[in-house]
Amino acid sequence: MKIGFIGLGIMGKPMAKNLLKAGYSLVVYDVVTAAVAELVEAGAIAGTSPKDVAAASQLIITMLPNSPHVKTAILGEGGVIEGAKPGSIVVDMSSIAPLASREVAEALAAKGIEMLDAPVSGGEPKAIDGTLSIMVGGKEDVFAKMKDILLKMAGSAVLCGDIGAGNVTKLANQIIVALNIAAMSEAFVLATKAGVDPERVFEAIKGGLAGSTVLNAKAPMVLAGNYKPGFRIELHIKDLQNALDTAHENGTPIPLTSQVMEILQALKVDGKQSDDHGGIIQFYEKLADVKVRKGGAL
Ligand code: NAD
Repeated sequence: MKIGFIGLGIMGKPMAKNLLKAGYSLVVYDVVTAAVAELVEAGAIAGTSPKDVAAASQLIITMLPNSPHVKTAILGEGGVIEGAKPGSIVVDMSSIAPLASREVAEALAAKGIEMLDAPVSGGEPKAIDGTLSIMVGGKEDVFAKMKDILLKMAGSAVLCGDIGAGNVTKLANQIIVALNIAAMSEAFVLATKAGVDPERVFEAIKGGLAGSTVLNAKAPMVLAGNYKPGFRIELHIKDLQNALDTAHENGTPIPLTSQVMEILQALKVDGKQSDDHGGIIQFYEKLADVKVRKGGAL
């Protein structure tokens, strides 16, 4: 099967490389030509537009920042919809608003093109290892056809419901991750100010009930003062905005999410929008006038 891959950023690049390693033939496109060149070096064919990629593929995967980028690449001028043949399948792996997934799928269905929304969790390290977790929305038979290919990039792929359900699940994931990082930050700042080494705190609690994948991934980075992304604060703002919009549309108050959103907004104002989301701790450090990373006071 010929696969088109559109969006070769932090995540898309290693995901596309894993499909090449698995033996698939890939046509790729990104607005950044250097990213396309890197994939061509790895064995892919360069596409000239999303339309061009779609015309050459039976399956088109997109891995783009947010809803407007996905709408432009799929439904816009020179988009996937202009090149894709009836019977082809679009798998959008970007994290976008569930409503946008449904709108794009509806427009594609009118042309006989199926779609899954299939956002991922795990970040760059798991994209490189091919061990991402994929949460999928769409029809069961389309998912069954795609599952083996998805598992070339992931350790698990779970069908969560109809189209849009993948992105609803991703919003749930992003709420849990953001709140966990904020809780870790609050706790580490308190411990530091109370004179207890936060590294010891991490060692002591990571095997107990407070332990988590988030803690294991983010505590070592935060303790080293390393905020290199990873997952940028501005992308987490995007996800929490989609969560707040979705929640307000369906009548679900999500008070803790809105609190963390304001923390992220404050960090953005402070010029830290491109830091890894582990950088949330910098907000707390400023409030308490203490530095958690090795090196002590501010
Ligand atoms: P990124 O910004 O590194 O990559 C996005 C790529 O899309 C860029 O290379 C950009 O040039 C390209 N692009 C934008 N508009 C385009 C268009 N119209 N046509 C073609 N290419 C276009 O972002 P990323 O970190 O790879 O994230 C991609 C998606 O995956 C986002 O929705 C993000 O929330 C999600 N995600 C990211 C991570 C992470 O840790 N980085 C983890 C899980 C999920």
